[in-house]
Amino acid sequence: MSEAIGTLVPGWLAAAREPRVVAELELIFAEASRAIAARGPACWASGRCCNFDAAGHRLYATGLETAYCLLRAAVPSQGDLAAAIARGGCPYQVLNLCGAHGHKPIGCRVYFCDRSAQAWQQELYERLLAELRGLHERHAVSYVYAEWRGLLSAFVEGPSLADVPRFVVPNGGDRGGATPLTVRGQ
Ligand code: SF4
Repeated sequence: MSEAIGTLVPGWLAAAREPRVVAELELIFAEASRAIAARGPACWASGRCCNFDAAGHRLYATGLETAYCLLRAAVPSQGDLAAAIARGGCPYQVLNLCGAHGHKPIGCRVYFCDRSAQAWQQELYERLLAELRGLHERHAVSYVYAEWRGLLSAFVEGPSLADVPRFVVPNGGDRGGATPLTVRGQ
């Protein structure tokens, strides 16, 4: 991840604590949930979609989504990130569960390996991404859309994350929620 990306991290962290930004982002997440519930794709919780190399895809997210997740879920270490990259997957994957339950980016929410989802998920993803871009523009948040683990690394390797108060997740809810493991296909 470039040095230039690292300079944007403090702004993303500040935006991910800003109530108006958070409210709009969570509305987009809720819209994703509603759209998916209406279509009812199957998820077999195989966890394969979170092993990007095995599934043959990559997860992309924005800097703001990454900040939102890191302020609410467990923060992976550089070692966690390196191990995840070595095994081809995501540092939040815990067996077949998502350790960023409730905080994961839109790409994770929309992707299903169920073949029936292929007819609609790309369109839904692009619509939600356009809304996300609009959110950035309305609140003057820098828009960067990049590979997930690279973005996580930019946050984890910089000093800013340690200086920003994190949100408490009740009942250890950032570990092991049984949500479908879904990522963006390519
Ligand atoms: S759903 Fe997304 S954040 Fe969660 S483990 Fe899978 S790739 Fe990682």
